[in-house]
Amino acid sequence: MDALLESALKPASKSVLLVEDEPDIARLLRLHLGECCDEVAWAATGHEGLRRARGRPWDLIILDLRLPGIHGLDICRQLRQDHSYVPILMLTAKSTELDRVLGLEIGTDDYVTKPFSVQELMARVKAIFRRCEALARPSSGAGSDLLEAGDLRLDVARHQVSVAGCPVVLTAREFDSLRHFVSCPGRVFSRAQLLDQVWGYGHDGYEHTVNSHINRLRAKIEPDPARPTYILTVWGVGYRFAA
Ligand code: CA
Repeated sequence: MDALLESALKPASKSVLLVEDEPDIARLLRLHLGECCDEVAWAATGHEGLRRARGRPWDLIILDLRLPGIHGLDICRQLRQDHSYVPILMLTAKSTELDRVLGLEIGTDDYVTKPFSVQELMARVKAIFRRCEALARPSSGAGSDLLEAGDLRLDVARHQVSVAGCPVVLTAREFDSLRHFVSCPGRVFSRAQLLDQVWGYGHDGYEHTVNSHINRLRAKIEPDPARPTYILTVWGVGYRFAA
């Protein structure tokens, strides 16, 4: 096949940085990630992981929580402080650690609890890629690159949000769910619908994830997060964006 045609038909190339200190898990993940990614780099310590994460752009970072050197949470926090929006998929060993990840507003895009099935992890990875591609795609025809509601302004093409002119830093998933809400003002979304539409895969039993996520989003965009005016709670059902 013509090389140019071949490259045009190939899905966009993906690069993944895997930060994981357990060689067996790293080997297994590299093997499977290699099927959908052109480049899979491996860092076995926290320091190496942070250095390589900062060294160049990546399409995804898979980050173990417990690492020698720097803890996964600190790596994530430092990358977000650098204003890096790289998608981060966190690997946690215990549900108590998971609670910590969710409790801290550090901006992971997703998480998987060990032990996990490779199929599940790959489904999460592909869902993150799909979301990022959808965000990167220029909106066509009827859609607009600029969404506005009250003082809230979303620049879809640039992946930027501002409230009353002040820039707000959102994770990829926060941006995605906010775009979802702003695009459908007044519509009620159940937690299960949000999981399905924003997270993009079956997430049974993780509806509390939506609550934590919405609370983090509110803390960033609402003038008074305790009395939200944009993302409203519909008791017993879910959430809706103010019409
Ligand atoms: Ca570990």
